[in-house]
Amino acid sequence: MDDQGKLRFAKLLHHRAALLEKGEAVAPPLVSATTYHLPEVEGASHIYGRMSMPTWEAVETQLGILEDAPCVAFPSGMAAISAALMAVLTDRKRLIIPADGYYVTRVFSAEVLAAYGVEVVEVRTAAIATADVSGGAVVFIETPSNPGLDCCDIALIAQRVRAAGGLLIVDNTTMTPLLQRPLDLGADMVVAADTKAPGGHSDILFGHVATRDTGLEARVRQWRKISGAVPGAFEAWLLHRGIETLEVRLERMCATAQIIAERLSGHRAVTNLRYPGLPGDPSHVLAQRQMTGFGFLIGFELATMDAAEAFLAACPYITQTTSFGGTHTAGERRARWGDPVSEGFIRLSVGVEPAEVLWAAIETALHS
Ligand SMILES: *Cc1c(COP(=O)(O)O)cnc(C)c1O
Repeated sequence: MDDQGKLRFAKLLHHRAALLEKGEAVAPPLVSATTYHLPEVEGASHIYGRMSMPTWEAVETQLGILEDAPCVAFPSGMAAISAALMAVLTDRKRLIIPADGYYVTRVFSAEVLAAYGVEVVEVRTAAIATADVSGGAVVFIETPSNPGLDCCDIALIAQRVRAAGGLLIVDNTTMTPLLQRPLDLGADMVVAADTKAPGGHSDILFGHVATRDTGLEARVRQWRKISGAVPGAFEAWLLHRGIETLEVRLERMCATAQIIAERLSGHRAVTNLRYPGLPGDPSHVLAQRQMTGFGFLIGFELATMDAAEAFLAACPYITQTTSFGGTHTAGERRARWGDPVSEGFIRLSVGVEPAEVLWAAIETALHS
């Protein structure tokens, strides 16, 4: 993370300080009230729970400091993604999405948006920078892609999309605003699943939309209010707590991922290793330029489905789960979901275990 990022994080940790009265709780109170004292509407800070809640606002303030942009909180990453897309696909009817990105975004586009008359075009992440973005299209990208970890050039794509009168949305889930800053690179909107690293403990679903365009922000807020896709107060409260350690967790996770990736690259059982932090990786040069860290996701292949299953079962410090970004190192064979990868391909999400203990367990499991 750069110096600006570190400053933002310190500010985030102390964001409530200026508002605190003597004797008030330092951590934000968990307020789940649906109704608020309303003798008259004018000047009320809260009106009704579907419109706003103090505990979401505490999280939106944290996220706003991280993104350096207004943020709208949602009950899941998909709620944030669908809100962003519904807000912009009113006058615009052409949508470009990654063919190798998050699966449910593709399902939402194909099953829901297409039924509302949106033309959905799928393009591989590695080819989006040169794709046809004419016609005021909404371009939705994810970099690094999940699970293939290909990268695309956000600044270049933003420039091309803007020149064509379009709009760029970036799913920044795999990086978080600490490791990659799409709005600074020219994107119109960021969407993210805070379910992953920001929540960080595999116990809440949450998402947000960030944008510096006040018109877009208003449309996303209005969508949330009238569609009712509002987060719960308890989840917001847990996310507020989780985000406070995001920077320390990410630092450990990225450093360990670098070590594990370097050692896996020298292991004879491992092929087609992908980690943007390795100098030989196809994403490395771009990642160095546009990311402030290389993340905690690693992709690699073992020879067969059986070898991959045996490895995952044998390693005591890899939880066999889907999803990523939690404190526990997690791994799974992505082909079980029908991802276009080989049967032995594993996506590893590196957690906060001490690096040498984790590597010793991985090395032993690779020999089993
Ligand atoms: C998990 C994920 C989502 C969806 O988040 P949910 O909170 O599960 O709805 C969206 N995009 C990416 C890249 C993800 O990894």
